[in-house]
Amino acid sequence: MLKQKNLIFIGAPGAGKGTISGVLLEKYPLVHISTGDILRDEIKRDTELGRQAAGLMKDGKLVPDEVVAGMVRARLAQKDCDNGFILDGFPRTVNQADLLAAALKDLGRPLDRVVYLKVDDELLLQRLTARQGCRKCGAIYNKLFMPSKKPGVCDACGGELFQRPDDSLETAKNRLAVFYKQTSPLIEYYDRQGKLLTLTATDKDELVALIEKELA
Ligand code: AMP
Repeated sequence: MLKQKNLIFIGAPGAGKGTISGVLLEKYPLVHISTGDILRDEIKRDTELGRQAAGLMKDGKLVPDEVVAGMVRARLAQKDCDNGFILDGFPRTVNQADLLAAALKDLGRPLDRVVYLKVDDELLLQRLTARQGCRKCGAIYNKLFMPSKKPGVCDACGGELFQRPDDSLETAKNRLAVFYKQTSPLIEYYDRQGKLLTLTATDKDELVALIEKELA
């Protein structure tokens, strides 16, 4: 078991938040809360919220703070989060972090640690534009760095692999700019609280080992 299990993963798009979460979820009973995944699901189901979010996401812009904070709060209120959780892609602004702090206080779920995955821009862009996801099970691959055994086919479930529309070079660049402007102030925000763990490794196994050691 991990001793510290109420977690936030911060990192620019392509830093590996989803990939590392996936490995940890296979080993620990944590709940994975990815606001990007929840929003993509809303779009797929063509809900009112999905229709509102789609245009912003296509351009790499942020969905309003209150909307995402409400989604996260509702998910954190569920019983299975007693086992611990990984917030992946939330918070993304200081206002979201304040809304989260209030929600965690109300729910009696103190935040243990904030893991910041720090990766060079050049590698981020290479990773984003070569990233692929499985339509069926959501597994993440990368044509350059982590290819599936058979091109275009998921190793885990045989599903079709696809590129996210916001992983085009132009939108990926926008998303990086949004990260530096709106999300990176959170690094200092959590550092001041003594909660920040910054990791600069880029190898998946190395990162998982470091996280397990630090959170044990
Ligand atoms: P992600 O899958 O985390 O890269 O998120 C994809 C897109 O969903 C982002 O570029 C935003 O448009 C939107 N999104 C996800 N999480 C948030 C958040 N915490 N705040 C605002 N927008 C978000």
